[in-house]
Amino acid sequence: MRQENAITENAITDNALRAPLIQPPATPYFFAMSIANATPDVMEKLVSLCKRRGFIFQSSEIYGGTGSVWDYGPLGVELKKNLKERWWNAMVRARTDIEGLDAAILMHPRVWEASGHVSGFVDPLVDCRNCKKRFRADDQKIRGTPGTPDAQCPACGMKGTLSEARQFNLMFKTFMGPVEDSAAVVYLRPETAQRIYVNFLNVQQSTRQKVPFGIAQIGKAFRNEITPGNFIFRTREFEQMEMQFFVEPGEDMKWFEYWKAQRMEWHRGLGLAENRLQFHEHTKEELAHYARAAFDVQFDFGGTLGFQEIEGVHNRGNFDLTQHQTFSGKKLEYFDQPNNRRFTPFVVETSVGADRTTLAVLVNGYREETVEGESEGRTVLGLHPSIAPIKAGVFPLVKKDGMPEMARRIADDLRSQLPVFYDDSGAIGRRYRRQDEVGTPFCITVDGESTTAGSVTVRDRDTLRQERVDAARLTAFIGEKLRS
Ligand code: ATP
Repeated sequence: MRQENAITENAITDNALRAPLIQPPATPYFFAMSIANATPDVMEKLVSLCKRRGFIFQSSEIYGGTGSVWDYGPLGVELKKNLKERWWNAMVRARTDIEGLDAAILMHPRVWEASGHVSGFVDPLVDCRNCKKRFRADDQKIRGTPGTPDAQCPACGMKGTLSEARQFNLMFKTFMGPVEDSAAVVYLRPETAQRIYVNFLNVQQSTRQKVPFGIAQIGKAFRNEITPGNFIFRTREFEQMEMQFFVEPGEDMKWFEYWKAQRMEWHRGLGLAENRLQFHEHTKEELAHYARAAFDVQFDFGGTLGFQEIEGVHNRGNFDLTQHQTFSGKKLEYFDQPNNRRFTPFVVETSVGADRTTLAVLVNGYREETVEGESEGRTVLGLHPSIAPIKAGVFPLVKKDGMPEMARRIADDLRSQLPVFYDDSGAIGRRYRRQDEVGTPFCITVDGESTTAGSVTVRDRDTLRQERVDAARLTAFIGEKLRS
C-alpha cells in the first residue's frame, strides 16, 4: 500500500449508519486521477484480480491450461465489448467516410500467397535439445549464435544445445473438406486486413463511396507465436480492430499524419495516461519492404515490459491491392468519375489489438490506495466509465425499513438502460470496495432518508464525493456522467 496515495473516505464505513452519507469536501479530492505513476509492475496482481473477479480465466484451466489462450469471464466480456464498441462508434458510426465489414475467418488460400504471409510471415525459431524449450532466434536472452557450441540456452543454461535457426510460419493451418491433403489446406487468418482488400470493390460499389474512404472490421486473428506470454499481451488467438483507408496516390502521407493523430487521440480518450503513451517510428530495418511509413502507438505496461506496441499505423502504398489484382487476375481499381480515370488507391492502415488494449486499460487503471481512518485500504480499477463493465452498484444501507425494496426497484429500473449490480450483503464499506475493485464508476445507496425524501446518494469511485440525487432522476444523472 503506497502512502502517497492516502485518501479520505469517511463516508463509506459502517459509521454511515450514524453519519449522513453526504460529506463535506475532504482534501484532496482530485488525487485519484492525478497520482504520479512510476509505472510499477502490476501484472501479477492483475492476473489474480482478473481471475478472482471474473474478468479473464486461463483457457481449459481444469486440463492444465492451453498455451497463451485466455477466456473472458462475465466482467471481462463486458469490458472488451465496451472497448470494441467505443472503437466501432468512433471509426464507423460517427463518420460518413468509413464503412463496416464482418468477413469470414477462412479464406481462399491464394489470398495468403498474394499477401506474402505464406512465404514471409515467419519467425526464426531455435530449439534446445536438452530442455526441449523453443525460442525466437533473436531472443535477447540467448548468449552466442544458435547452432554453435558456444550458444547458451536461456532456460536450462546448457551450452551447445541450441539448434540452428529455422524459419517457422506463424499461420495456423487446417483442412477444408474431408480430405487432409495439401490441396485442402486453409489458414486461420493471422490478421483481418486481407478481407478488407479483397472486398474493396464490393464495399465501394455497394455504398457508392468515393476515395478517400475507409473500411473497418473487428475480428479474431490467430498466430502460432513462438514466444507468447505476459498474460493477454501476446496470445495465439486474439482480436484486432482494423481500418484500411483508401486514398489517391500522393495524398497518402497527408492521411497517414491524420490517422496517426486520430488514433493517438482515441487512446487518450480511453483514459490511458499521457505519460504512458508514445509513438515509435519504424526504422528502415523495421519497415516492411512495401511500406512507405509506419508508426506504432506504444503504451508503457510497466515492469519489465515497459513501452510496447498496442496499435500500428501504416502507409502501405498500393502493395496489397496490386498483389490481389496480380494473384486473382481481377481488377481492383477505383474509377474516378469526374476525372474519367482509373487508379489503384494507396492504403493507410490503423490496426489495434482489442486484447492488448484491454490489458492496457487494466494496467493503466489498477491502483492501490490507503484510506484515511481505515486499516484495509482499497484496490481500484480506474476504468473510463464508458468501458466499465458495471456502471453502478445499488445498495440498501441496511436490510430493513423498506430500504432493500426501494434499492431493488431502483436497480430493476436502471437495468433496462445500464448494467447495474444489486448488493445487500456485508458492510456497506465492503460493498463499495467490491465495486471499486472492478471499476464501477458509481455506487447508489438507499439510506434512511431515501424512503421518505425519495432521494439517494451517488458516490463517485475516483473522487469519493457523494451527491444526493432524486431517485427519479438517476438514469439521466448517471447517463450525463457517462457521457461527460
Ligand atoms: P508484435 O510485434 O507486438 O507481435 P505486430 O507488429 O506483429 O505486433 P501487427 O501485425 O501490427 O502487430 O498487429 C496489430 C495489433 O494487433 C498489434 O498492435 C497488437 O495490438 C495486436 N496483436 C498482434 N499480435 C498479437 C498477439 N499475438 N496477441 C495479442 N495481440 C496482438
